[in-house]
Amino acid sequence: MSEPQQVPERDRPVLAASGAVRVRVPAKINVHLGVGPVRDDGYHELATVYQAISLYDELTVTRADDLRLRIAGEGAGQLPLDDDNLVVRAVRALARYVDREPHVHIQLRKQIPVAGGLAGGSADAAAALVACDALWGTGLTRDDLATLAATLGSDVPFLVLGGTALGTGHGEVVSPVLAVGPWHWVVAIADGGLSTPEVYAELDRLREAGRVPAAASDPGPVLAALRQHDPRVLAEALANDLQPAAISLRPALRRTLRAGTEEGALAGIVSGSGPTCVFLAADAEHAKKIATGLAGQGVARAVRVVRGPVPGARIV
Ligand code: ATP
Repeated sequence: MSEPQQVPERDRPVLAASGAVRVRVPAKINVHLGVGPVRDDGYHELATVYQAISLYDELTVTRADDLRLRIAGEGAGQLPLDDDNLVVRAVRALARYVDREPHVHIQLRKQIPVAGGLAGGSADAAAALVACDALWGTGLTRDDLATLAATLGSDVPFLVLGGTALGTGHGEVVSPVLAVGPWHWVVAIADGGLSTPEVYAELDRLREAGRVPAAASDPGPVLAALRQHDPRVLAEALANDLQPAAISLRPALRRTLRAGTEEGALAGIVSGSGPTCVFLAADAEHAKKIATGLAGQGVARAVRVVRGPVPGARIV
């Protein structure tokens, strides 16, 4: 998708923030991920149901004479600090869009694991857009932000929006869906990441070999289950077409998924392209019990209890 060139129409008062702007942004899970065929532009056609969960990165921007990024927490020391970082790309994209210098200092505190299938990089890009929009008082509409977000990555528009939403296209076209929460999840974070393009390539290979169904699974059952607030119904409906590919590349995930169900989870699923696994619990207490059991089994680098849905990137 090409970057929008026009300075957009403004629909609210333009109020630039004077000091620092701090934004909290959630990770996402895919409670359904239906992967269709590869399109001519190289993307797979998706029908996915996203949910934002209470595992957050935090980003602070301040006015400065140049553009600088510092990172603490998950991935610090291994993530790029230049234009390869999605945060830097987001700041530059917004600055170009509103025709100003991209001069800010950014402090990013990461809890979302890198390359974990939780869209941490996309979350940070969404946070950077929301933070600089407020710092500079650009007054962009939600639609403008969503359009700009889609130029940065498929998951970025959802992380601006948050909640629970259906994603179509290659995930960048999002519409909110009714989900009577809260839903309680246990997140099992693996050691090391999985490359999203490699997981998609593995799915293509498995499909060519006839080892997994070629058609995308249908999001209908998950959308119906989300309207009912019975975790047992949702447990039956969770689906991720990328899961066989993630397991093929990381067979140890089979053990992690089994461990979660042994500890009493209603269901377990690989999150997005993995290797993070998420487990559905009946309630908050049940989630804590599953997390304790999972931590004891030693199948994950870290285990977190979270809930969803939560809002997208927001100023705190
Ligand atoms: P998705 O679920 O959207 O495929 P993911 O959770 O698997 O994403 P990310 O953590 O978003 O993966 O990052 C994938 C790659 O993007 C990493 O290998 C990393 O080098 C690069 N990247 C660029 N900027 C960031 C950032 N701010 N945080 C994390 N990764 C980043």
